[in-house]
Amino acid sequence: MIQLSDKINKLETSATLAMAAKTRELKAEGKDIIGLSLGEPDFNTPDFIKEAAVQAINDNYSSYTPVDGYVELKKAVQNKFKRDNSLEYDLNQIVVSTGAKQSLYNVASALLNPGDEVILPCPYWVSYKDIVMLNEGVPVEVKTDIEKDFKMTPQQLEEAITPKTKMIWYSSPCNPSGSVYTKSELEGLAKVLQKYPDIIVVSDEIYEHINFGDERFSMAQIPEMYDRTVTVNGVSKAFAMTGWRIGYIGAPEKIANACKKLQGQVTSGANCIAQRAVITALEAPIDKIQYMIDKFKSRRELILGLLKEVPGFECNEPKGAFYVFPNISNYFGKTIQDYKIENATDFSMFLLEKANVATVTGEAFGNPNCIRLSYAASESDIENAIDRIKNSLS
Ligand code: PMP
Ligand code: GLU
Repeated sequence: MIQLSDKINKLETSATLAMAAKTRELKAEGKDIIGLSLGEPDFNTPDFIKEAAVQAINDNYSSYTPVDGYVELKKAVQNKFKRDNSLEYDLNQIVVSTGAKQSLYNVASALLNPGDEVILPCPYWVSYKDIVMLNEGVPVEVKTDIEKDFKMTPQQLEEAITPKTKMIWYSSPCNPSGSVYTKSELEGLAKVLQKYPDIIVVSDEIYEHINFGDERFSMAQIPEMYDRTVTVNGVSKAFAMTGWRIGYIGAPEKIANACKKLQGQVTSGANCIAQRAVITALEAPIDKIQYMIDKFKSRRELILGLLKEVPGFECNEPKGAFYVFPNISNYFGKTIQDYKIENATDFSMFLLEKANVATVTGEAFGNPNCIRLSYAASESDIENAIDRIKNSLS
């Protein structure tokens, strides 16, 4: 009899990946499902990046890589932080990993002792909670309101802090709400944190280029926060490179060293070909990927306009990333087409079965009143999906 570990038994399957798998399965059965569940650009990786990868193969990049990344890539990351975020990191503060997901796992593992609390403003990205729990940390969820654009206020932060608080994790632009913390909002949070010098901030900026407003500011840009902020980023989203699996951090040296030590025992350095390609990606001017960002922007207008016509959907206006996160709690307690809807998970399953549209339940992001729709999809898929949703509900 195989007995799995308690740790694995307690771990949830990633809801985003589970929905993507379910969509694939239904499509394979011949069902015409429109997938708005997975947060992944529908673009191909740009040719100039692909060419760099081909070149790397031909140049015989095939050996183990340095655990924390090729020095040329770390230099490209260093320049990127300088260019885009006005952040100065020494090379020994940078660690390249197999996706930002691994970067986040490394940080949790490097810092958490059993019982340490991690504040997660809700809605949070689906894997934060489980990564914290896998590392024996305790997630502390802070509920936010749609009226406040789903952002945590300084007062809420202060109320959530206890002697056991070790870290705060958030993404900005946020997956799933699309919210972007402004400079003054981050300064407000930093002011609270001045009283608690041991708390570390993890600022996940993987959607930084998919930002439709003028606000762009990193917690680490606040001088008092620099020495206790880990800035997480990666190429999956802006460069349409989800499957290449490259993420990175800029962090205090002690944390970077710990992440490197861990990675050296768990995965070794990230894939050699992908790293070479990412050097080219990060060294390119942002103009080269602007066409994708422009598309996401116009799709945002499209989906927000279409959702206005769906009764009972209440949306904030996402400022970045490529998700909408409508509150659909108006439907709770109702029966539609013999389908009883008690919560967001029921609603998401109803949409899958009755409208053939895949979404993700807000429960996975710590908000049980909402569902997430990704608009990293073609215009026609977006139009058809919202049409189907409207018809299934009418
Ligand atoms: N953070 C956020 C907020 C994300 O949405 C994702 C989605 N992939 C990740 C981290 C992980 O990205 P990666 O593909 O680099 O592991
Ligand atoms: N981050 C994407 C999402 O939220 C990809 C899925 C995942 O990595 O879990 O859908």
